[in-house]
Amino acid sequence: MADVFSRRKRSQVMAAIRSADTKPEMAVRRAVHAMGLRFRLHVPSLPGRPDIVIRKLSTAIQVKGCFWHGHRCLKGRVPGVNRGYWLGKIAGNRSRDKRNERRLRSMGWSVKSVWECRVRRSSAAELAEHLRALVERSRARAAWPGGRRAATRRRSARRVTGR
Ligand SMILES: [Zn+2]
Repeated sequence: MADVFSRRKRSQVMAAIRSADTKPEMAVRRAVHAMGLRFRLHVPSLPGRPDIVIRKLSTAIQVKGCFWHGHRCLKGRVPGVNRGYWLGKIAGNRSRDKRNERRLRSMGWSVKSVWECRVRRSSAAELAEHLRALVERSRARAAWPGGRRAATRRRSARRVTGR
């Protein structure tokens, strides 16, 4: 299918999509704040500068734009024009995401992603519930004997033994 926009116009449209991605992030911040959790934003000392970092629960949350991070949903659809360019760009983003998430986990962080489409189709209450579920898992993990370091050790042991 031919793109309705010219190449130049498409770039502008995509740039606008990128900046609109800050909106879901705001919604997620509000929800985390409403849960009474303290967090920092875009922590530069951590791999990939995670969007929201809850230190108490050793949890990093990334709010991912569906287009830029290649979500398999309607918003993640790649336009026909310049398709190769966009696919390459998105593949690069995805492998960078994976690398950063691996590094964070090896440092003992629990890493969660919240997709833009999920935020957009959720009411505030639904989003709060989704985040509560994510955070509860981290809380359970942080409460394990020995805390997050032990949890990381257990996980890497599992990886080594292949279980
Ligand atoms: Zn999506």
